[in-house]
Amino acid sequence: MKEKYLLHCPGCGRPFPDRYTLDCPSGCDALLQTVYAERRLILRDLPGIFRYSEWLPIEGHLRLDAGPVSYKSAGLARELGLSNLTITFSGYWPERGGRMETCSFKELEAQPTVLRLREKGAGVLQVSSAGNTGRAFCQVSGLTGAPVVVVVPASAAARLWTTVESPNVCLITVDGDYSDSIAFGREVCSLPGIVPEGGAKNVARRDGMGTVMLDGALFADRLPDCYFQAVGSGTGAIAAWEAAGRLVADGRFGSRLPTLHLSQNLPFVPMVRAWEAGRREIVPEIDMPDAEASIARVSADVLTNRHPPWGIRGGVRDALAASGGRMYAVENDEARSAGRLFAAAEEIDLDPAAAVAVASLVRAAEEGFIGPDEHILLNVTGGGYERAAEDLDRYPVEPFIRVAAGTAFDGDVREAVSAWIGEQEAIVRA
Ligand SMILES: *Cc1c(COP(=O)(O)O)cnc(C)c1O
Ligand SMILES: [Zn+2]
Repeated sequence: MKEKYLLHCPGCGRPFPDRYTLDCPSGCDALLQTVYAERRLILRDLPGIFRYSEWLPIEGHLRLDAGPVSYKSAGLARELGLSNLTITFSGYWPERGGRMETCSFKELEAQPTVLRLREKGAGVLQVSSAGNTGRAFCQVSGLTGAPVVVVVPASAAARLWTTVESPNVCLITVDGDYSDSIAFGREVCSLPGIVPEGGAKNVARRDGMGTVMLDGALFADRLPDCYFQAVGSGTGAIAAWEAAGRLVADGRFGSRLPTLHLSQNLPFVPMVRAWEAGRREIVPEIDMPDAEASIARVSADVLTNRHPPWGIRGGVRDALAASGGRMYAVENDEARSAGRLFAAAEEIDLDPAAAVAVASLVRAAEEGFIGPDEHILLNVTGGGYERAAEDLDRYPVEPFIRVAAGTAFDGDVREAVSAWIGEQEAIVRA
């Protein structure tokens, strides 16, 4: 194998070169995986996430210094009676080297995705997101000049801000719910030159998020016994499992996959229900009844994905099963008090989703699901908003077009987006 990496389909077993490929060319219902020629984790002398670029599906790097940071917990570990708790933090926390200025681990996804797309010459990226993902892509667009089309519900537009100006973002707001904006985003991708980000199918997204596991294991000099994370799509958890598999193959970090401890926020917990029922399918009537009302009641709405890659081959269920994992359904109160405990013990504020993961760790410690001396990796997927608001500039991303739900993507709207892409292509060529 001369290439740095190939894509591999766990459905049919075929390997093939990457052309920003999101699906198996033979049509398998499976998540493609990267297989790197280099079996050992070799670090590069580069800032942020690009330290791990040997195991990212990219050739070059970006001049950005945002990456995960790991440290050994003293405060929270003492509270919970744990002797080996590693925290891997993704967010803004300058004292610890945390430089993700939009405050979530979605920046780990956005950086390699933007670079992979550029290297493959695949076109302009389209992202549909109601929150942290959209913000992360706007930020990386602002930092690199990469053009991005972001489609969000109008009600979520206020969450799209950056800490640098982002003139190459085309923000489309849809007067409707999240599903309406996803549907509109799909239509936007019918324009030539626009490529969907791809969600869990995007190997750059997963390998970017997998750097949390790499960073935590490198810091502790071994694979953790247990890994804790709050899940919405579950992409981060699949990524952790895949990264752990690479570390096992490396041979220097241990031979056992960490047990995944994954959490969702009540009352919207489809993956917890499907896991407890031992099902490969999520059945909407059973696993997420009254979805809309439930979604409106959770404290961490980034955890409310209705179509997670659960039963697909190489998906969340396979990751849980392979590691003998466990799932937790966390109440809002439990998450809030865990968030307060964390802020007092570790001295940084958390994203509400990260507070859900902390709550699951508290419960696991109390109920003896983990031992006091086990090596634990807590993925703090977001935080530092209060610090970021004090220290950094904040630029709201202004909508380029606003459409009603169900608007067809034709006529003036199509013309306008098409013209915008034309301008961006001219900028890229210049
Ligand atoms: C997106 C997100 C999650 C969940 O990650 P998935 O990969 O969608 O499961 C957890 N925490 C924060 C802060 C997030 O932004
Ligand atoms: Zn296949």
